[in-house]
Amino acid sequence: MSFSIHNIPFGIFSIKKQKKRLATIINNQVVDLYAVAELGYFDDLKIKKSVFRQDFLNDFIALGKEKTNAVRKRLQEILSDTQNFSPLMPLTPSRSGVTVFYDAKAVDLHLPIKIGDYTDFYSSEQHATNVGMMFRDPANALLSNWKHIPVGYHGRASSIFVSGQNFHRPKGQINASDSTLPIFSATKRLDIELEMATIIGKNNAIGHAIDVNEAEDSVFGFTLFNDWSARDIQRWEYVPLGPFLAKNFFSSMSPWVVTIEALEPFRVPAEVQNPEVLPYLKEKNRQNFDITLEVFLKPEHTEGVKICHSNFKNMYWTVAQQIAHHTVNGCNLNIGDVMASGTISGKEHDSFGSLLELTWGGKKPISLPDGSTRTFLEDGDTITIKGFAEKNGICIDFGEVQTTVLPAH
Ligand code: CA
Repeated sequence: MSFSIHNIPFGIFSIKKQKKRLATIINNQVVDLYAVAELGYFDDLKIKKSVFRQDFLNDFIALGKEKTNAVRKRLQEILSDTQNFSPLMPLTPSRSGVTVFYDAKAVDLHLPIKIGDYTDFYSSEQHATNVGMMFRDPANALLSNWKHIPVGYHGRASSIFVSGQNFHRPKGQINASDSTLPIFSATKRLDIELEMATIIGKNNAIGHAIDVNEAEDSVFGFTLFNDWSARDIQRWEYVPLGPFLAKNFFSSMSPWVVTIEALEPFRVPAEVQNPEVLPYLKEKNRQNFDITLEVFLKPEHTEGVKICHSNFKNMYWTVAQQIAHHTVNGCNLNIGDVMASGTISGKEHDSFGSLLELTWGGKKPISLPDGSTRTFLEDGDTITIKGFAEKNGICIDFGEVQTTVLPAH
């Protein structure tokens, strides 16, 4: 799998501590979009060159879909033109002494978005069912609101970091049972959540709801997302207002934003909702995206193993419904806001998107190739989430988001 001409995702890179620039990637070569702009390839699109020399994609996204799609289309034209920008060209200055291509291994990739607000949903029925079965009542796993509301909470934007940035095991209040007193400790139940992040590409004014059938116009694209979770801290703190310190210590995002336009060939019908939803959530054409998602766990000194195989299409609530619900009260979304999907679990046991579910609350440990086992993560463990879509010879790769757990301070 690699980044094909069909993809053309957007990201932010730098080389040798120089100023950050916008980039795309093709066949594992990073393309400097400021250099492409300097060579005049975007001149007729009437975009200021400085837009391509920024720390984040936000100003580029703010140009609007007409311009950003034109840039993507232009890149597809020139990158498939072997006379000019062939990705097969050696990594030497191309023309006018301007370097356009860099080996992906030679550059630093950065958080692509200046994230204003971050919302996390809870939109996979299997995930919500699994958690409900473990924590509440197996016979009534879903709470009464779940099939009527795309349940979500406001998370923290400041602690979202790009792939490759690691974090120290968080500490907090833990209380194993309601009849004891809490202790202060490093978490003993550090977990992952396999998610996708929607990057908002359009502002809506305060007081103006977004129609569910127009909601995808507000989506710039998607990244892979790991919503790190401390289950023991979560268990004690989440009543009655929901997750707080169990979630906001760190979240990880992949560096390349894949546009919603690149995913057109991978639309699939979303499951029919029963009971019927309220009119503001009713879609004329309910669709999800068929994107294979994989999670790998690698201990510090031995080889890793795939622990989960899921798919973005396992969503009961679509991205359009999430946006419509988020704004139905007049809440204003801004360019660069992140809306995470919630843990994406499928029906099969190996498609569960968290260790909480994969080990069923820590009762069924996972076996690793070196003979050791895991219920929750140990220090030195590295988690890699990968994502890709493939159909009729078209491949859209999301790359990966990789993070290592460091010991508590
Ligand atoms: Ca989550």
